[in-house]
Amino acid sequence: MKLDVDVLRYLSKDDFRVLTAVEMGMRNHEIVPAELIDRIAALKHGGTYKVLKNLLKHKLLHHDSSKYDGFRLTYLGYDFLAIKTLVNRGVISSVGRQIGVGKESDIFEVAKEDGTVLAMKLHRLGRVSFRAVKSKRDYLRHRSSYNWLYLSRLAALKEFAFMKALEEHGFPVPNAVDCNRHCVVMSLVQGYPLVQVKELQNPDTVFETIISLVVRMAEHGLIHCDFNEFNIMIDDNESVTMIDFPQMVSVSHRNAQMYFDRDVECIFKFFSKRFNLSFEEHTEESDVSDGDSDAGVRPRFSEISKVTGFLDKELAASGFTRKDQDDIEKFTEGDLEKDLSSDEEETETASNDANAKHLDSLCLVEQQEQTVTCDEKGEAEKNQQFAEAGQSNEIETQDASKKGKWDFPYCTPLDISRLHRAKEEDKEIEDEDSPEFTKSLSKQRRRAIAAVHGGRKTSLSRNSYKDKGGKSSHNSKLQKAIVQLVTYAKSHEDKPRWWFSQD
Ligand code: ADP
Ligand code: MG
Repeated sequence: MKLDVDVLRYLSKDDFRVLTAVEMGMRNHEIVPAELIDRIAALKHGGTYKVLKNLLKHKLLHHDSSKYDGFRLTYLGYDFLAIKTLVNRGVISSVGRQIGVGKESDIFEVAKEDGTVLAMKLHRLGRVSFRAVKSKRDYLRHRSSYNWLYLSRLAALKEFAFMKALEEHGFPVPNAVDCNRHCVVMSLVQGYPLVQVKELQNPDTVFETIISLVVRMAEHGLIHCDFNEFNIMIDDNESVTMIDFPQMVSVSHRNAQMYFDRDVECIFKFFSKRFNLSFEEHTEESDVSDGDSDAGVRPRFSEISKVTGFLDKELAASGFTRKDQDDIEKFTEGDLEKDLSSDEEETETASNDANAKHLDSLCLVEQQEQTVTCDEKGEAEKNQQFAEAGQSNEIETQDASKKGKWDFPYCTPLDISRLHRAKEEDKEIEDEDSPEFTKSLSKQRRRAIAAVHGGRKTSLSRNSYKDKGGKSSHNSKLQKAIVQLVTYAKSHEDKPRWWFSQD
């Protein structure tokens, strides 16, 4: 997917405020009605329509009128919100070229203010799992917040948490720098995926290193589940780095042995084919060995002394809770069954990358968060997100003379450091922790709902008159949509699920 970050420089504070409002609305709405967006964004001088139009133009939003009229974020819109937050936090200051594309992710080079280059992974859950999402509709129905935004965010959080925990236990993984929404920032691995390597000085040593990693992870209670030549990076000194963790499971998973054997088998097959290493045939007899994994004998899952819950503390520290694990697991249940039945085929084609998202309950420590319902959690995060994305303020419109002046000479260079610098100056957007802000948000929301149910004239309709200087056909379309929306809301007062899911 193309990530044209160039557009970022043209977006104003209001643009981000409205974009964030759509994101908040999507916690409870598949499609967010313009009326609600307007109420949440509460732009000081109105003009939500105009902003919506601008966001549509840049493909940050999608307009949908199939069921009822409204908007939803596109991946690009979500990307921008995450990137902006990371810029505000001072984690990155520019985005460079794309360095990897997975079935459910895009990876870019990014740079810090001081020029250090990092890797940014944008999760795109739903890109290949759309059918799975659809088949889970019944489950998703009462919680529209379980959408791709939410799932991609969970995948990113899980990857970040596991990477950090593995790093802390001395595993060769990228340094987990930060995580926001569906985006993980990590150190850039200097090397190539093993699949691209045709020759090795010491294939035996590399093989043994890799197999010992699978065993050591199992000893720590974990199975990678997608451990193959695509997710192992190797540098010029033949040092190995593991990547890609959103599908990891606990050794207590009911299919743990199968996943473990599959990871092992992938490595054996690859080294045998690519580097002509020879191994003992995988038979029951060869398995009944002394358990020595160094001698080309497949390590046995049953012979590994596994410690479950070893990394729980670290995972919880990164904010990845048992509840998150349960949520993502519920979503992927269907895939798991499918995966089991087509296991043979998948190892053959070494395309485990695709069936990545099979997750297990890890024995995470009990979190206070577990007692919080998803919607409650959503409300709290809602305010945080608004403040995060909104607080970075006015992004001055780039004047033409500055265009082309970058300090990051990659493909789509963009100096977004100004976003960061502007952070301090913003006094207009409320503090994320401010109880007044939370209160005012809830009040606005309640008013929006009352407005729709009561059918009274809203500030949005007033704004639409203000906007008529531009090409107003779109505005009138929106206005018509609002009328439809109000009519729809009135005629469906008994089933307002899509509009207001009782939060
Ligand atoms: P997916 O989950 O979509 O398979 P991966 O995490 O495996 O995504 O990344 C896809 C590709 O992006 C990798 O094969 C690798 O080439 C590149 N890549 C990912 N992370 C890094 C990194 N930290 N440093 C350098 N390249 C990376
Ligand atoms: Mg991968």
